[in-house]
This record gives sequence, structure tokens and C-alpha cells, in this order.
Amino acid sequence: MHRNLNYGWIDVITSGAMYAGKTTELIRRVRNFILAKRTAAVFQPKMASRFTEDEMIVSHDGVRFEAVHTDNPMEILWHAEMHHPAVIAIDEAQFYDASLVDVVQELANRGHYIILAGLSQTSEGKPFGIMPQLLCMADNITSVYGVCVLCGEPATKPFALRAKTEDVSIGAGDKYEARCRKCWVDGRRERGEA
Ligand SMILES: [Zn+2]
Repeated sequence: MHRNLNYGWIDVITSGAMYAGKTTELIRRVRNFILAKRTAAVFQPKMASRFTEDEMIVSHDGVRFEAVHTDNPMEILWHAEMHHPAVIAIDEAQFYDASLVDVVQELANRGHYIILAGLSQTSEGKPFGIMPQLLCMADNITSVYGVCVLCGEPATKPFALRAKTEDVSIGAGDKYEARCRKCWVDGRRERGEA
């Protein structure tokens, strides 16, 4: 939405459930900036790398883009200081530690346009990592939705297919599925979790 790159800006693309198209939307926005002759750098945590080649991010629907894989927010800062990209996009932001919050704020204050994509909720329906801070810092928030695998309503919750798994998955199909609130609650009640 915002196109004036003379000022810092923070966009957050978020969803409660995976398979909602966050990464696809992030790549789409970066490509638009590149078409507008802006420089851009894309980052993704190593633990989330859904890729076959190095230095690529790949969305669930197969869209690919060059990216730097790092788990260290300071590396994003150093990269920005060395290469001066106008646009800095960070995928799977929920997996970064709290230092990303300060890095994002600092980069936006220096005038960079930041695009973050992240999963807002754990499979237990709790806020995911640093997403609450990032959402509160955002200048613009876009919510995207998946489709509930059981009923077809908009999916807003990640449902863990096995009870009490760790919330470190990127939404691999064998471990989590996207569900609407009703189907998510029904599934958890069946297991005595809700
Ligand atoms: Zn449903």
C-alpha cells in the first residue's frame, strides 16, 4: 500500500493458520518494489527453510525468490548496513528471537521499508513468539486466511495433528493443518485439550 520510500515503514502480513499465502504475498510485494526499480533483500530463518536450493524461499504453492537464510537478527542489520536495500522483507518472523523487534524498529527508523510475514498463533491458540510486538509496531497489518481442511470456512488456527507437539513447525502437512475456530475447538475437545 505505502510506496513513499523516503520514510521508514513496517508492513506485517499475518495469519493465525498456515497455508494462508503469507510467503506468496510477501514475495508479490517484493517483486512489485523490484519492478519499481527499488532494491530489496529477503530473509528467512534457517529453521523455516522450505527449499531445495540454498538462498531461496519457497512458498507452499511453489513461488520462489532469492533469500538470505539466517537465524540472527543482527545479520539482517549488518546486511542492511553493507548493501543498503530500500526494502527488507523477513519471512516466518515468528521464529526469530526478541532482538528482531529492536532490529526492525531501528531499520524502519533509518528509513527502510520493512515487510514481515508471520504466523500469529501457536497450535494452542496462544500468541506466537514476538508476533504481538511486531504487530503492535506495524504501520500496516494485512490478515490473510487459509481454508479449513474440514469444512471450508476461513482457517484462523493451526491444528496440531498429534497432541502437544512443539510449535516449531512451519506447517508441514504431516504435523499441522489449517482449521476454522470451530473445527479447531472440536479437534482439541476430542483429545481433551480444550
Ligand atoms: Zn472448519
